[in-house]
Amino acid sequence: FQRMKEGLTRSTKNLSGGITGIFTKKKLDRATLDELEELLIGADLGLDAAAAIAEAVGKDRYDKEVSPEEIRKIVADEIAEVLKPVEKPLEIDATKKPFVILMTGVNGAGKTTTIGKIGATLKAEGKSVMLAAGDTFRAAAVEQLKVWGTRIGAPVCATKTGGDAAGLAYEALARAKEEGTDVLLIDTAGRLQNKADLMAELEKVIRVMRKLDPETPHATLLVLDATTGQNALNQVEIFGQVAGITGLVMTKLDGTARGGILVAIARKFGLPVHMIGVGEGIDDLQPFSAEAYARAITG
Ligand code: GDP
Repeated sequence: FQRMKEGLTRSTKNLSGGITGIFTKKKLDRATLDELEELLIGADLGLDAAAAIAEAVGKDRYDKEVSPEEIRKIVADEIAEVLKPVEKPLEIDATKKPFVILMTGVNGAGKTTTIGKIGATLKAEGKSVMLAAGDTFRAAAVEQLKVWGTRIGAPVCATKTGGDAAGLAYEALARAKEEGTDVLLIDTAGRLQNKADLMAELEKVIRVMRKLDPETPHATLLVLDATTGQNALNQVEIFGQVAGITGLVMTKLDGTARGGILVAIARKFGLPVHMIGVGEGIDDLQPFSAEAYARAITG
């Protein structure tokens, strides 16, 4: 909790400081509630959540003196209530060998890094891990995944630059089955500039893999960069249509004042949130906790 709290300090300062600014030595009235609502919208919680929280804060408190601490607590409670239903750890079904995790997200969201971090966690639990460099267009992405593979001691399946991602995923799955690997993590391309291409490639990866094992992928995670703000909602929509997202990972919560976007996403999509990224390091991945998150972003 402390680590995440440190990670989220900027969000904290923003919302917490904002609440202090609005409610210090003031009675609660329409104007202060409007200010609160604006603050919440500015923190990316979305219009609906902001309105609902402002309403909850206003309930039974009109014309009363309130303290920033009291308001912070109510806001945190409301946020926690929205996030609680989506707090779900990523469960690895050990009967699947391999358990296949397809990692999706736009370029730069933190896919490769998150694969490395998840791989490291699984290795630490004693599981065998294989990585597949499915973002075949970016040589740098393949190289970066290889670096992670070496670092965590996991084999990396790769093909030549521009090679067929679906073929690679198929071969990686075949190899993982043969070697009895516990978990196969597959990286994918994230060129959102060309939506049609991206869709076609992701769909093909899934379709081809299913020829070998119709149950795969067992989990399809979408990695979202918290600093992209409202655009993250579009990404959930698009990747959801293409790949059937089963869960979310939100990264870069150490570098943003906008952790509130997760509240908007939770309200709109209700998808499980498995973990959060709070830095570039191998240990900077944490299980998602609604309670801790809500308290961290409100200060
Ligand atoms: P990909 O293109 O989606 O594979 O993204 P990468 O994994 O290459 O990450 C893009 C950049 O974001 C890299 O410089 C990562 O080190 C950085 N990054 C990834 N996750 C986090 C995070 O949780 N916090 C911070 N501060 N940086 C991150």
